[in-house]
Amino acid sequence: MKFHEMPVEDLKKSLSTDFENGLSNEEVKKRRKQHGFNELQEGEKQSALLLFFSQFKDFMVLVLLGATFISGILGEYVDAIAIMAIVLINGVLGFFQERKAEKSLQALKELSAPQVTVLRNGEWEKIPSKEVVPGDIVKFTSGDRIGADLRIIEAKSLEIEESALTGESVPVEKNVSPIREQKLSIGDMHNMAFMGTLVTRGSGVGVVVSVGMKTAMGQIADLLQTAESMMTPLQRRLEELGKILIIAALLLTALVVVVGVIQGHDLYTMFFAGVSLAVAAIPEGLPAIVTVALSLGVQKMIKRKAIVRKLPAVETLGCASVICSDKTGTMTQNKMTVTKLWSGGKTWDVTGQGYEPRGEFLQGERSVQIKEEKAFQQLLSFGMLCNHAELKYDGDQYHLDGDPTEGAMLIAAMKAGYTRDSLQKQFRIVHEFPFDSDRKMMSVVVEDPNGKKFVVTKGAPDVLLKVSDSILYDNKLQYFSDSHRKTVVGAIESMAQDALRTIAVAYRPLSNGTYPLHEAEAEKDLTLIGLQGMIDPPRPEVREAVKECKKAGIQTVMITGDHVSTAKAIAKQLGILSSQHIVLEGHQLNDMSVEELEDVVEKTAVFARVSPEHKLKIVKAFQNRGHIVAMTGDGVNDAPAIKAADIGVAMGITGTDVAKEASSLVLLDDNFTTIKAAIEEGRNIYENIRKFIRYLLASNVGEILVMLFAMLLALPLPLVPIQILWVNLVTDGLPAMALGLDPSEDDVMNRKPRHPKEGVFARGLGWKVVSRGFLIGLVTLIAFMIAYQGQDDRLAYAQTVAFATLVMAQLIHVFDCRSDHSVFARNPFENKYLIGAVLSSLVLMFIVIYYPPLQPVFHTVAIDVKDWLFITGLAAIPTFVWVGSHFTRKTK
Ligand code: ATP
Repeated sequence: MKFHEMPVEDLKKSLSTDFENGLSNEEVKKRRKQHGFNELQEGEKQSALLLFFSQFKDFMVLVLLGATFISGILGEYVDAIAIMAIVLINGVLGFFQERKAEKSLQALKELSAPQVTVLRNGEWEKIPSKEVVPGDIVKFTSGDRIGADLRIIEAKSLEIEESALTGESVPVEKNVSPIREQKLSIGDMHNMAFMGTLVTRGSGVGVVVSVGMKTAMGQIADLLQTAESMMTPLQRRLEELGKILIIAALLLTALVVVVGVIQGHDLYTMFFAGVSLAVAAIPEGLPAIVTVALSLGVQKMIKRKAIVRKLPAVETLGCASVICSDKTGTMTQNKMTVTKLWSGGKTWDVTGQGYEPRGEFLQGERSVQIKEEKAFQQLLSFGMLCNHAELKYDGDQYHLDGDPTEGAMLIAAMKAGYTRDSLQKQFRIVHEFPFDSDRKMMSVVVEDPNGKKFVVTKGAPDVLLKVSDSILYDNKLQYFSDSHRKTVVGAIESMAQDALRTIAVAYRPLSNGTYPLHEAEAEKDLTLIGLQGMIDPPRPEVREAVKECKKAGIQTVMITGDHVSTAKAIAKQLGILSSQHIVLEGHQLNDMSVEELEDVVEKTAVFARVSPEHKLKIVKAFQNRGHIVAMTGDGVNDAPAIKAADIGVAMGITGTDVAKEASSLVLLDDNFTTIKAAIEEGRNIYENIRKFIRYLLASNVGEILVMLFAMLLALPLPLVPIQILWVNLVTDGLPAMALGLDPSEDDVMNRKPRHPKEGVFARGLGWKVVSRGFLIGLVTLIAFMIAYQGQDDRLAYAQTVAFATLVMAQLIHVFDCRSDHSVFARNPFENKYLIGAVLSSLVLMFIVIYYPPLQPVFHTVAIDVKDWLFITGLAAIPTFVWVGSHFTRKTK
C-alpha cells in the first residue's frame, strides 16, 4: 500500500514513528545512515586543477610563456625561469582569488539554506532541511517551503502551491483523508505535500516519507539547473570595459614595439618587452578582485546582521534612494504588552512588566476584579482562545513562542487568571480561519460543553466594526447604533493616538450545530466585545538611523497594516513623519492608479492599513519616479513586492521562506537599522571598487607610457621585461587588494545616492586615471633619463632607478586613491592592510635591488641613499602636484 492510501494511524507503523514525540536522536542517526542527507545532487563543479590551469589561458599569457620558453632554449635560462616563476606565482594568486570568490558565493548560498520545524525527542525544533529523515514529523505553515515529501497527518485550511512540480500555479487544498487509488498524479495527491512546493495558506503537520533524490523533486533533475546569474551590473560593465582595455593595451604595446624597432632596437628584445608589457597592462585580474571585494563586503554585512542573497544587491544597495519598511518588528521592538482594555464605554489599565504574566487591572485608580465584569472576562478569555502564542518559563525568564500580538493577549488573559487548558476544556476548538494580512482578522469556531458552537474573532478594530451588528454594552447585548459606533471609534482613536496597537474581539453564536466553512460566512453579524490596546515601543536606534538616511539622501517610508493613528504616532516619534508629509491609507490606495500615486508618493511618509498587494503599487510608483527602492516584507503575499523592488528585503526571524526566497537581502535581526548599515556597506564597497580600479588602471597607464615615451625619444628600454612583470605582480596586486578592504570614508553617508547608471569612470575617475598615469610614466622616464645620461654603462643603474621610481610612485599614489578629495583627506595609517601591503611591496623591492643572487635575475644594481631621496621626490609628484588645486577648491 502506498502512503497516500493509508489511514493516518497506519503510517505510524509503516514508518515506525511516534506522532507525539517524533524520532529520537539515535533513530535519526540510524535512518540518516540508511537514507543519507535530504539533499538534491548538484551538477559537477569545476575541479581545482582545472581552475588552476584556467589562470594561464589568457592569450597574452600564453604568448609570454611561449616566448619565454623559446628564450630559455636560446640560452636565456635565468630570465626564462624568473619569468616562468612570476607567471606561475601570478597564476597561483589568481587561483586563490577565484577560489575565495567561489567559496564565499557558496557560503552565501548555505547561509540562506532552508530550515524546517521537526518534532524530535518530544520537542519541536528548527533544523536545516538537509537533516530531515524519513519518519520525522514536520510542522509547516503559510509561507513555508516544504522540505521533503510528506504524508499530511494534520491540516488546517491548508493550501499548497505545487507549480514547481506540476506547473499548476493555482494552490491545491490539502487534507488528511486516505485516497484509495494506486495510480495518482502528483496534482491529485491531496494528502501529500512535496519537497519544493509552497504552503500558501493555513498550516499542517506531516510525516516525512522520502528525502533527497528519492523525492518527487529529486526525480526531475533538470529543474535543478536554475542557477541565476550572479554577475553584478558593475561586473558586466567591467567585462565590457575589459575588452576595450585589452584592445587599448595591445595597440599601445604594439605601438611601443613598432616605435622601438624603428628607433633601432632589435625585434626580439622589443617583442619580449612588448609581450611582458601587454601581460602587465591587461587588467585580467580585475573581475576576480571585484568579486573578492564584493564578497568581502558581503562578509562585512553579515557582521552587521545583513545577509546578501544575490551579489548584485551589494551594488544596488549603494544606489537606494527610498526605504519602504514595515513598522511592526522592524521599526518597533515587536515586544507587545496589553496596557489598556476597553469594553462597553469603560477603560481599564493593565499593569505589569514584559512577558511576566502578573499584573493588575485598574479602572482609574481603583483596582478591579475580572469577576466583576462579564464583558471584560470575554474580552480576555476569547482573546486567549483565538490565539496560538505560547508562554514558556525556563526557570529564570519567560519566553514567548509565536506572534507577539497574540502573545500580548495571552499574557493579558493570564494576568486575569485564565489558563489555556481550562479554557479549552470549556470551549473545544473545532475549526480555525487563520490570520492573514489582507483580512486582518483571525477566527476560531468553538464548541461549549452543551454542544453549542460560536465563532470567536479577533482582528483590526476598524475591520471588525464593519462586520459587527451588535455590541456588548453594559454587559448587555445591544444593537450597534451610530452612537455606539462613535464611542468605539473614539476609543480606538484615543488608544491609537497613544501609539497603541488595537485589536478588537467579537463573537457570534451559531445555530443548528453546524459551522460555515468559508471565512466570509463566519466573520459576519458579529457582536463586538471590546478592544485590547498594546504598546510596541519603537526600537531606540531607529530614530538615529532614519536621520542618517535622510542625510544620505534616502527617504524612509513606513508601510504598515496597523491603524493610521498608531502608525502616525510612531512615525512621528521616529522622525519619519513631519508637517510636510502626508499619510495615505489602504482604501485610498485602492482608488488610485499607479500614475495618480506617482504624483504624491514622494510626499508620503506613512502608508497605513495597507495590504500586501498595495506594496507592489507603492514600489512601482516610486520606481516610476526614478527611485531605487528597498522594500521589506515577511509574508507570502509580500513576495511580489519584494521581487519587484530593486532591493527586496526579507525578515530573517519572522520572514517566511517565500519572502526570503524572493528577497536579495535578509535582515538577521529584523531591524530597520540593519538596512541602513547594509546601504552604508554597499556604498563603501562600490567606492572601494572604484578605488582599486583607479589605482590599477593609473599604474598600467604609467607602465605603458614610460615605455612609449622612451621609445619615442630613442632611448634604451627603461624597464626590462622581468621588472615589468614584477611590478605587475607585486605593486599592482597587494595594494589593490588592500584598497578593497578600505574602511569607509566619513562622508559616505553624507552623499546623495549614486545614480544606478553611473559609469565606471564617472565623477572624475577617468581623468584621474589618465592624469596620474601620465605623470607616473613621466616621472619614471625623467628618473631614467637623469640616471642614464646617455651612457650605456649606466643602463642597469638607470633601469634600477626607473624601476624604483615606478614602484615608489605607485605606492605613494595608492594613498591618493583612497579618497575622491585628496591624499590629505584621510589618515594614511587607517587601513592596516594597505600599510601591510605597501610595506611588503617595499621589502620585496629592496630584496630585488639589494639581494645579490637576485640582482642578475632582475637586472638590478644596488643604489645609494642619495638616489633614494631623488627617487622619492620624483615619485611623490604624481600624487602631490594636485594638492594645490585641492586647497584652492576647499577655500572657494
Ligand atoms: P507591519 O505591516 O508594520 O508589520 P502589522 O503587523 O500591523 O504591521 P499586519 O500583520 O498585516 O501588519 O496586521 C494588520 C492588522 O491586523 C494589525 O494592525 C492588527 O490590527 C491585526 N492583526 C495583527 N496580528 C493579528 C492576529 N494575530 N490576529 C488578529 N489580528 C491581527
